[in-house]
This record gives sequence, structure tokens and C-alpha cells, in this order.
Amino acid sequence: MAWFRKEEPKPQPEPKKVRTEGLWIKCDSCRAIIWKKDLEANHLVCAKCGFHFKIDARSRLKLLFDDEQWEEFDAGLKSNDALRFVDQKPYRERLDKASASTGLKDAVISAAGKLGGHPTIICAMEYRFIGGSMGAVVGEMVTRAIERAIERKVPITIVSASGGARMMEGAVSLVQMAKISAALARLSDARLPYVSVLTDPTTGGVTASFAMLGDLNIGEPGALIGFAGPRVIEQTIRQKLPKGFQRSEFLLQHGMLDAVVPRPQMKDYLAHAYSFFRGPA
Ligand SMILES: [Zn+2]
Repeated sequence: MAWFRKEEPKPQPEPKKVRTEGLWIKCDSCRAIIWKKDLEANHLVCAKCGFHFKIDARSRLKLLFDDEQWEEFDAGLKSNDALRFVDQKPYRERLDKASASTGLKDAVISAAGKLGGHPTIICAMEYRFIGGSMGAVVGEMVTRAIERAIERKVPITIVSASGGARMMEGAVSLVQMAKISAALARLSDARLPYVSVLTDPTTGGVTASFAMLGDLNIGEPGALIGFAGPRVIEQTIRQKLPKGFQRSEFLLQHGMLDAVVPRPQMKDYLAHAYSFFRGPA
């Protein structure tokens, strides 16, 4: 009869000591404790379970460009807060704070360099900058990047990581969807390839415009990709959503993505795709 026997409490893991803080990271998926250096060496992918941690825009470019070299464009563009928007705090304050913590003026880096020997343009979105949201600056930078690709007759890759359009810019953020899509149509007319890489998370107006318009749409494993979030959908249709709904693998199965490619293989995959579209470098 076990019910009256008091079970020994399971030993609890000791709280993190200050000394080791920042050196170790717990995997969000398998709970393994990973040495931060090992994790960084593996491009922020858990070696045990393959979980992909979020990666900042600059590390993304380092991962993709040959010799970690690139030229940046439009880094000085800054939102002018046309609506003088205030929610819990002024939008202007949010911008300054995001700018101070990321070293960027807005949520994307636009760059040119070589990938696997192919000259190319790459835009990498920065999720830490107000959730990678797309306002006038992101829209303008991405549009210019596409136009630059047309001018230089090179392919373009856009790596998305975004909660969608930036609500603090209202309709101004929404028109970016059309503006970028129109630029991509011109890129297509110029018969130049566009590869869209969707990372965790890619949602809202970014999914609804350029992230899904690639000649190839490639997801990172486990990335949340969708328009409205799963909670909103569940509440609207009043049904339980299937397991893995809106994750890359699910979207691949349902024909919304062309491939799911782990981060360490992403560069080779893109180089291969460029060679396929353009011939060897
Ligand atoms: Zn893990």
C-alpha cells in the first residue's frame, strides 16, 4: 500500500550560481544544459535535440556570407514616427531602446557580398528590434535591396524573423507589403531568383507579403510560420489545432514550404540553389 507512504522529495536542481551565470544555457526544447561556447560554435542549434535558438541578424550574415565579409546599405535610415504614436510608452522611446540594445536603426540589415562564390544581396531581419516588425524603414530597406539586386543582376535572399507589420506605424506599415511585393514582381520580370528563408517566428504581414513570395521558400526547423497566431485561430474557429500546426515541418507537409533546412546546412543549401538558378559560380 503505497498511498500512505510519504515519498521522498525528488532532489531539486540547485539554483544557478552567479559564478556560472551566462556560461550555460538550458535548451528550451530538451532541457539539456549546454555550454554557451558549444552552442555558439554550433550556430545556436542544440547538439542534443536540434532545437534552433533565435539568432541575431549580424550572426546570420556571418553564417551566410563568404569569409564573413559584406557591405551594408541604408544603415542610417530611421523611422520618423509620423503618427507620434503612444501606447504604454511613446514609440519614439521604443525605437531608441531597441536601437541602443541592437546597435541598429531598425529591424533589418541589408547587405551585399558573396555566398558560395555567387555575388548576392542578403537582408537579415532582427527580431530583437521591436519583434522584427516591419515599418516604413524595413519596407524601404528591403525594397531598395531588391532594386539593388535588379541593378546588379544578382540573386537575393531575405531571412525573415518578424511578428509582422509594425502597428505603431499604422497604415504606413501596411503599404510596405504592397511596395515590397511590387519590387519582387520587377525582380521576377528581370528573371532573377529570390530565396526566402523563414525563421522563428515569421508571422503577420511579413508572411502575408515577401516571406511567402520566394522562388524558393525555405524554413528553419521548428520555426513558427503563419499569419495569425495559433491562439487567435483556436479562439476563432473553436477547434483544437493539430500538433505542430504552423511549424515548418507541418507547412512543408502541407505544401506551403519547399524545404526545411537546418541552420548549419543553410549556406550550402542556398549556394546550391543559386547554382541551380544561375549556373555554377
Ligand atoms: Zn535541446
